[in-house]
Amino acid sequence: MNVARRSVLGLPLAAAGTIATVRLLGDPALASTSAGVPHQSPIDIHPADVRRVANLPALKVHYSSSTPVRVHYVQKDGSDSDGCQIRSDQETEEVEVADGAGHVTVDGHRYDLLQFHFHTRSEHTIDGRHAPLEMHLVHQDSEERKLVIGVLLHPGASSEADRILTELPDECGDEIEVDDFDLASLVPARPATLRYRGSLTTDPYTEGVRWFLTTPQTTSAAGIKAFRSVFPDGDSRPTQKLHHRRVVADPEWRGRP
Ligand SMILES: [Zn+2]
Repeated sequence: MNVARRSVLGLPLAAAGTIATVRLLGDPALASTSAGVPHQSPIDIHPADVRRVANLPALKVHYSSSTPVRVHYVQKDGSDSDGCQIRSDQETEEVEVADGAGHVTVDGHRYDLLQFHFHTRSEHTIDGRHAPLEMHLVHQDSEERKLVIGVLLHPGASSEADRILTELPDECGDEIEVDDFDLASLVPARPATLRYRGSLTTDPYTEGVRWFLTTPQTTSAAGIKAFRSVFPDGDSRPTQKLHHRRVVADPEWRGRP
């Protein structure tokens, strides 16, 4: 904001007003006050300051314990001649889930699981610190409203996610099919969560996303290293300003595994 303010102050008033409007409309991080403050993701979380609320509406997770999934690389620079080598922070490895293999309900409202994917380092931070990996399980209701479950992953005991992380498809290679995948083991059936309203963390950064972060979990160090080797410079968006949003959590939610 300092840069914007300086350039505005250097101009006659009428011109300054025009330029300020253009700048504010062009950058979601500077969205104008008349349109409301931006509510973007990810955010930094301070567990000591999070309001713990008993009896929040339960997030009920209904995932299959045996389903085929397909893993593919999400490429955003396919038109570039060296697009198969360049890693963009908008790219990831994504796991497509079969229709009906997973859904969640909250407040009696159903959201179907579409896909899950990973970011390194984690996008959400706890007291300013990243986990090495974060998994996003993306759900959508019948009106295409999004609900994302985020799971920060630290090195430790292995998880079902290792079956994906240790066998990732190349950027321009074939997708990989994994049979009998245990989706249900990725998230507890009634997880303690932290909740807030935010956005997609990749273009077009659409707001109105319901975010639920579970207590962080573990996956094998080998799985984390394998994903990191595909994205040596990372594929995560920096944290965004909270702007007085309400962040609440179940009393049992914790910021570390
Ligand atoms: Zn994501």
